[in-house]
Amino acid sequence: MNPLELQQYLDFAYIVAVVLFILSLKFLSSPTTSRLGVLAGEIGAALAVVVTLCNPEVTEYRWVLITLIIGAGVGIPLGLVHMTAVPQRTALSHAFGALSAAIIGIAEYYVGTAPVTRFQMGEIALEVIIGSLTFTGSLIAAGKLQEILPQRPIVYRGQNIVSLSVLAGALGLAVALVVNPANTMLFPIMVVVALIFGVLLVTPIGGADMPTVISLLNSYAGFSAALLGFVLNSKVLVVSGALDGSSGFILSVIMCKAMNRSFTNVMFGAFGQVQASAAGAKEERVVRSATPEDAAAILEAANRVVIVPGYGMAVAQAQHKVRELYDILTKKGIDVRFAIHPVAGRMPGHMNVLLAEADIPYEKLIEMDEINGDFPQTDVALIIGANDVTNPAARTDKSSPIFGMPILDVDKAHTVMVIKRSMNPGFAGIDNPLYYLDNTLMLFGDAKQFVTSIVKELSGGH
Ligand code: NDP
Repeated sequence: MNPLELQQYLDFAYIVAVVLFILSLKFLSSPTTSRLGVLAGEIGAALAVVVTLCNPEVTEYRWVLITLIIGAGVGIPLGLVHMTAVPQRTALSHAFGALSAAIIGIAEYYVGTAPVTRFQMGEIALEVIIGSLTFTGSLIAAGKLQEILPQRPIVYRGQNIVSLSVLAGALGLAVALVVNPANTMLFPIMVVVALIFGVLLVTPIGGADMPTVISLLNSYAGFSAALLGFVLNSKVLVVSGALDGSSGFILSVIMCKAMNRSFTNVMFGAFGQVQASAAGAKEERVVRSATPEDAAAILEAANRVVIVPGYGMAVAQAQHKVRELYDILTKKGIDVRFAIHPVAGRMPGHMNVLLAEADIPYEKLIEMDEINGDFPQTDVALIIGANDVTNPAARTDKSSPIFGMPILDVDKAHTVMVIKRSMNPGFAGIDNPLYYLDNTLMLFGDAKQFVTSIVKELSGGH
C-alpha cells in the first residue's frame, strides 16, 4: 500500500473513532443505554490508539510497549476500586491525563523536530499551563476525597489575590515565551508556576464541592488534550479533547444548577466547612426513633411508598437488600418507587448506578422534579442514607448554606422514616430540621443491617 493510501485508511479509521466517541456521549446520557456508551467509548479509544500505532511516523515500538505495560499496571487496580472511591479514582485519571498532555507539550518544545513558531509557542504554552495546573489540582482533589488531605476549605486572607497573581505570572511567562520562543530558561519557570497554581486553585475548595471541581478539572484535561492536538497536528486529539472538555464543562454546570450554586461560589465560596452553629450550638429538640419491627409494620400498612436513597446507601452497600425490600413490598401489593435527586451520593448518577446494579427496574426510578408533586399522596417516604438532599432548610432557611438547592419534598409525606447511624450531618455539614418533625421517625443503624432487619420482619422473621 502506498503511503498516501495508508494515510487515507488511517484518517477514515480516526473518523470512525470520533463517531464512536460522540455516540458514547449520547448513550451515556440514559441509564438504559449507558453500558453501550461505555463500550462505544472503549472501542473508539482502542481504535484511535491502534491507528496511531500504525502511523508510519511511529518507528520505535519498544518504549510504547513499556509505557503501555506501566499504564496498564497502574490502570487495572485503579479500575477495580470500590464504587464509593470512584470520585477520587476519577480525579487521579484526570491527573494522569493532564500530566501526559503537559509532558508531551514540554517534549514538543524541547525536542520537537522543527523550531517552534510564535503561534505554536502560544499553543504549547497554554496547553502546558492547563495540563500542569490540572495535574496538581486533580491530585489535591483526589487527596481531599480520600481524606489524606483535610476536606475543609483551607482559606486565608487575600487568598484570591495571591492565587490570581500566580495565574497571571504563568500567563505573563507564556506571553514572554511567545515573544521569544527561544528563551528556554522561562519555560521551566512557567511550568512550575502553573503547577503551584493548580494547588492554590483546589486547596480553598471544600470536600462537598470536590465532585464539581473534578468535573471541571476533567474539562480542563480535555481542553489541554485538544490544544495538544493542534500542537501535534492530530485531528482525532483535537476532536476527542474538545468533546471531553465540553462534556465535562456541561456536567459541572448541571451539578452547580442541581445544588443551586454559581461557578464563582464553587470556586471561591469555601463551601463545605462544618458550620459551628449547626454542629455545635444545638438546642434540645426531640427526635423520635423506631425499631425495625415498627418500621416493618408501618410499611406493611402503606399503599404508596417512596424510597429515597443517598450516600449512606452507597457506603453501606445496601442496594441489594433494598432490592429485597422492594420485592417483598411489591409482592404485598404496595406501590414502591424510588426518588432520585440529581446530586444524591457523591457523583452524578451515583444512585442510578447502584440501583441498576441491584436490577431495580429503571421505570421505578423517578427524577426529583417528577416525583416531588407526589409526596403529599405518599404514605411513607423511606430515606436510606440520604441527608442533604432531603433537608427542608434549603426551602425555608435563608441563612442555610444550601438555601435554594432544590430538594426532595419528603417532609410532605404522611410518615417519614430515616435510616442513618446517628444525628451526624451529611456532606454539607449542616443540621437537618426534617429529623425533628412530628411525622418523622429515625431508624438508627447501618443502612444494610437495618434494611435486612425490616425485610426479615416483613417475611415473618425468616
Ligand atoms: P449526605 O452526604 O447529605 O448524607 C449521607 C448520610 O448518610 C449521612 O448523614 C450519614 O449519616 C448517612 N450514612 C453514612 N453511612 C451510612 C451507613 N453505613 N448506613 C446508614 N447511613 C449512613 O448524602 P446525600 O446523598 O443526601 O447528599 C449528597 C451530598 O453530596 C449533597 O450535599 C450534595 O450537594 C453533595 N454533592 C454530591 C454530588 C454528586 O454528584 N452526587 C456532587 C457534589 C456534591 P450517619 O453518619 O448518621 O450515618
